[in-house]
Amino acid sequence: MRRNVESIARTCCVPIIAVVKADAYGLGIEPVTQAIADLVESWCVFSFAEAASVELWGKTAKPSLMLGPPVKEDVGEYIAQRVRPSVWDAQRAAALRAARPILCVDTGMQRFACPADHVDAVLKAGNCDEAFTHATSIERVEQFLGWVGNRDLKLHAAGSSLLDEPRARLDAVRPGLAIYRGAARVCARLIEVRDTHGPAGYSGFSATRHGVIAAGYSNGLRTGPCLVNGQPARIVEVGMQSSFVELDVKDRAGDEVVLLSDGLTESQVAAEWKTSPQEALMRLCGAGIRTYVEA
Ligand SMILES: *Cc1c(COP(=O)(O)O)cnc(C)c1O
Repeated sequence: MRRNVESIARTCCVPIIAVVKADAYGLGIEPVTQAIADLVESWCVFSFAEAASVELWGKTAKPSLMLGPPVKEDVGEYIAQRVRPSVWDAQRAAALRAARPILCVDTGMQRFACPADHVDAVLKAGNCDEAFTHATSIERVEQFLGWVGNRDLKLHAAGSSLLDEPRARLDAVRPGLAIYRGAARVCARLIEVRDTHGPAGYSGFSATRHGVIAAGYSNGLRTGPCLVNGQPARIVEVGMQSSFVELDVKDRAGDEVVLLSDGLTESQVAAEWKTSPQEALMRLCGAGIRTYVEA
């Protein structure tokens, strides 16, 4: 993670707002924020509780931007935890003015964001000095700049997908996935290995030989790719807390089944699962026993 953040800093040359929502994409918000605090400017969370429950301000001395909708916190709590709420309507911006709210502008996402024609009212009501958008393309960044550029606001728009686009970097970047990509290794051990006789499992899959791991859909797992003894293999059926792996004749009980890393990337898993790399990472890292290794 530190190498990733250092590389983003070198490439982008602007401050980094590290997105640590959803327990740092399943990697663990506390150890993640401790590991990279000195390399980033601030944090980005979805809810107030995510920042407050681990005392991000107290533990790292870096403030947070909160993306999600208001729950019930009063302005004093935001100030105490140095959580700056994002705002997209004038009423809420005015109510949270003392917490230094940040305007979120809608460039197409159509959720938790302010339409262009309300931008002036929200900026004024919240006395905002910062604005952002959740941009999915450079065209949307340019639209954002057209609405809020040249106003002496701090501006940011780029998540991981736009980091390589110099015109999207503005005054800061807001990566999530790019911080975590390649940082986690997820594995399980074969607890049983058998020659397969006839249809097996719930689904009646057929194979020559199969093994079982103690990880299932309660651990976020899905059918798809894995590695056993360095060779590509497949998770052929997923149960609640165990799954079947199709094996080669040389694989033995006790061998490791790698679900992520060692050449199997978040993007490859995501492509086979037909989802995003963020979801693949979250599913694979969000459950199970975590061990942190200092590089
Ligand atoms: C989740 C999120 C990000 C980070 O997205 P990645 O694609 O994981 O980098 C950035 N900005 C906002 C508003 C988000 O919700």
